[in-house]
Amino acid sequence: MPLHIETPLFESPSLSKSAHRQIWLKLDALQPSGSFKLRGIGAACEAYAQRGKRRFISSSGGNAGIAVAYAGHHLGIPVTVVVPASTTHRAKELIREQGGEVIVHGATWDEANALAMSMIGEDAAFLHPFDDPLLWNGHATLVDEVARAGFKPDAVVLSVGGGGLMSGVVEGLRRNQWADIPVIAVETIGADSLAQSIQAGQRVTLPSITSVATSLGARQVCAQAFALAQSHDVRSVVVPDRAALAACERFLDQHRLLVEPACGASLALAYEDAAELHGFDKVLVVVCGGATASIDDVRKWAASAG
Ligand SMILES: *Cc1c(COP(=O)(O)O)cnc(C)c1O
Repeated sequence: MPLHIETPLFESPSLSKSAHRQIWLKLDALQPSGSFKLRGIGAACEAYAQRGKRRFISSSGGNAGIAVAYAGHHLGIPVTVVVPASTTHRAKELIREQGGEVIVHGATWDEANALAMSMIGEDAAFLHPFDDPLLWNGHATLVDEVARAGFKPDAVVLSVGGGGLMSGVVEGLRRNQWADIPVIAVETIGADSLAQSIQAGQRVTLPSITSVATSLGARQVCAQAFALAQSHDVRSVVVPDRAALAACERFLDQHRLLVEPACGASLALAYEDAAELHGFDKVLVVVCGGATASIDDVRKWAASAG
């Protein structure tokens, strides 16, 4: 049995009304770790355990680190997550709740990651948050479930950070003979590393992340995601933080589920009936979730985003 669960798939009455078309949700916010990350991380952890690894190391203070802690707990393998000082109290608590060891090191992720890398010995596996084919293979199960349910969307909307989710979803579309379905790849302003790369015709490294959607805050997308943006029908959209945050509030109100702004970015397209959706009758939105923000965080950010 995999570590992730099969999540609900249904048409949202409220979002369909806002978007003037069918909006279907794949509710990965309901994964036990709080985000879709468990699909790929769970699969990767199982593969590394089978290869004889006896410790999992991560440097993600976000949903990837939480998923590694969950997977390690269920596989009986100790987990160490090295995070920078900026990591939220909530994220550290969620990692510790699953028995994960949290080491706070350095002011930036680069410093935390360097320590994490130095800890990888013979018997330890490093779990990358988005750049690992094992991860994409696990994320692809999201599309397998949609195909098995017998629902074929006209387009898939998803959020992009480092591009692991997008790489997995495109892999899933291809392995279900759905390579013709376009992917609408959403980022927020200030975390738009894919959009800027597509525009520049090469992978761009952002100088810094200025969006509140920290789960989308990879300064550079993985090579696989950039390559897929060339070989698949990928349409890039960038939304302001304000729209992502408003979508979080409306989604909480209508579906009684709190998601991070990283996920609100995708929902914002449906709430605002964005031009990118025009021409599609049945749109699947990947509700990627996220466990690191509280409703107070969302409201505080919304107040300062104006
Ligand atoms: C990690 C994450 C993303 C982005 O996924 P990538 O694979 O990095 O593109 C989006 N939303 C949430 C909630 C995440 O945790």
